[in-house]
Amino acid sequence: MRHLLLATILALLAVGPALARQPVIDMHVHADTVADYPPGMQYCVPLMDNEPVLDHSRPYAEQYGAAWFDAACDDPLIAATSDEDLLARTIERLEANNAIALLQGSPERVRAWMAAAPDRFIPSVDLRLGRSNPPLDIETMRRLFTDGGFVMLGEVTNQYVGIEPDDDRMRPYWALAEELDVPVGYHMGLGPPGAAAFYPEFSVATGNPLLLEPILRRHPGLRISIQHMAFGFHDELKMMLWTYPQLYVEISGPITWSDDFHTYLRDLVDAGLAGRIMFGTDSLVWPDMLDRSIAIIEDADYLTEQQKHDILFGNAVRFLKLDESEARARATGG
Ligand SMILES: [Zn+2]
Repeated sequence: MRHLLLATILALLAVGPALARQPVIDMHVHADTVADYPPGMQYCVPLMDNEPVLDHSRPYAEQYGAAWFDAACDDPLIAATSDEDLLARTIERLEANNAIALLQGSPERVRAWMAAAPDRFIPSVDLRLGRSNPPLDIETMRRLFTDGGFVMLGEVTNQYVGIEPDDDRMRPYWALAEELDVPVGYHMGLGPPGAAAFYPEFSVATGNPLLLEPILRRHPGLRISIQHMAFGFHDELKMMLWTYPQLYVEISGPITWSDDFHTYLRDLVDAGLAGRIMFGTDSLVWPDMLDRSIAIIEDADYLTEQQKHDILFGNAVRFLKLDESEARARATGG
């Protein structure tokens, strides 16, 4: 009997680490609405496997659309069917994966999602200058951070409207973020494939991480997360991470877009920068992207267990200045 008990304990110990799921922070979730996407749009991972062979006599947007919406692959991600479905499935996948998420959007939408699962989300307010509806003014923004519980400014998506990070109109927001010790998430690098066909104002040049340099020099206390790895500007990203310790990089987008993501992630890790890489999905209307993205990191054989933990959780705790044990308890439901 004693031997049986001992054997059972040993067996439990042996499988214990595999069962004890690591906590995860997804640094890139949007409080989105399904109306922004064509109904039933599938997502094949990696996305670029479905890059269309283009016919230059037909509209590009239509050809990309056809290639993605009807994408053929063995195991596509299935889009949420309604806003309620999107919220419910997002919470379900977060719980199932021991995860919490940085939630980006308008204050109203972020609050609505937070009400459904306050412990699963970390609120962030997004910003795009030059939109038809004007961005939040600086005093409204200040109140969100001082009294409203919001902890990050992002996603800042000015690249979609061709506005540079150091544009005069951005200066009050940078100054406010530094003053209030609010970190910023900034979209840099790529848009969707063929972005110029969908977003006429999208500008490659305004997504170069070097454009953050004057801001970091002016605001040395400011922490910025470069979202989407500034994909396409890898050398510039690496130089900026080397040079500015207050700069982090977040991997949403490229992680599910193409296998060469690993080339760039590995290069950052080999360069000694694993302590400033943060996990993110940009799952939009595909909540199962969380499971798929975590697996991509877990399966990366060039990462140590410690590096996986740091990328999936620890680096975001430091970037956001969270209480680690509280964040862990929220993620694991403990
Ligand atoms: Zn983005």
